[in-house]
Amino acid sequence: MESSSVTTTLITGIAELTTHADPDAGPGTLADAALVVGDDGRVAWTGPAAQAPDADERVDVGGRAVVPGFVDSHAHLVFAGDRAHEFAARMTGAPYGAGGIRTTVAATRAAGDDVLRANLKRLTGEMLRQGTTTVECKSGYGLTVEDEARALRLAREQVEAVTYLGAHVVPAEFKDRPEDYVDLVKGEMLDACAPYADYADVFCERGAFDEEQTREILTAAKGRGLAVRLHANQLGPGPGVRLAVEFGAASADHCTFLDDADVDALAGSQTVATLLPGVEFSTRSPYPDARRLLEAGATVAIATDCNPGSCYTSSMPFCIALAVREMRMSPAEALWAATAGGARALRRTDVGHLAVGARADFAVLDAPSFIHLAYRPGVPLVHRVWKNGTPAV
Ligand SMILES: [Zn+2]
Repeated sequence: MESSSVTTTLITGIAELTTHADPDAGPGTLADAALVVGDDGRVAWTGPAAQAPDADERVDVGGRAVVPGFVDSHAHLVFAGDRAHEFAARMTGAPYGAGGIRTTVAATRAAGDDVLRANLKRLTGEMLRQGTTTVECKSGYGLTVEDEARALRLAREQVEAVTYLGAHVVPAEFKDRPEDYVDLVKGEMLDACAPYADYADVFCERGAFDEEQTREILTAAKGRGLAVRLHANQLGPGPGVRLAVEFGAASADHCTFLDDADVDALAGSQTVATLLPGVEFSTRSPYPDARRLLEAGATVAIATDCNPGSCYTSSMPFCIALAVREMRMSPAEALWAATAGGARALRRTDVGHLAVGARADFAVLDAPSFIHLAYRPGVPLVHRVWKNGTPAV
């Protein structure tokens, strides 16, 4: 039997512990702190090191900062191949459009399960080494009944939150009859995918799915008991954010082009505004206005959108640095959005914070403060990662 499953562990030497224990009281940062991991893999105690209770084992992290494990609430990890040449072309002037997705669809359909599984494992490994302990993963590069169900089945093997995105783009073979594809997405494909999925998502955007098609798909998905989320208002103004709020979506993702009514709708709802600044970085596009959302009272999350087209980073620390530098979030706001915000976007209460009872998922940083995540961009600051109360990296 593993010793970690039957013992408690006292973590000492924490220069700065961020718990997010009280969601209304800022980061909940404590200097010279300790944390006890219970025998159930959950946080049993946090507080000043001088008051720490005894435990079966002790780990001294040597004067480093500890933060909750990152919750990456938006990623597309089941695919084959890459689009490095498309990226290079974009950086020298070609525009980004939704159509590039079809390139990855062709490569993914042609790939065997082992290839897709290995790529997923490589990417989730990258994420874990960078401090991400909860990952959401979408389908959307299969776009046939079998290939979408396969993508979700493979994702389910390796990540905890799985999203059906048959409505990513209309595949080439349905180009002249998109309504037939919508019927498939909300019918036979949904039936095949729902058993593997927690959520359904639609790319509601010009060049992908319009308002009426999005409504049809979300209605069908909710009818099958799936929670919903949306790719909304990424490439231009549109109905996505409004629909996300109307359908009670867990999150509206991208939120780059918002009008006042969109901001008010988000602020008055339980729908999280998930910002994906790696996309704007990688497509050289204007960033979402995070300050406007925060000041209106909306809940903001940050995620990577890791995918081979519009943003191929798996790094939450990089996205935190972008959020601070490019979207004028404070380091504390960005860290909250990358942890507790991501958990809210997945409607999870057990991750994204380190209050007593939370899953003991945390990152030990090679830095005295979480501020270094933004202050030292591009530097590998994640020293150790614990997941479920056990060292994972
Ligand atoms: Zn996406």
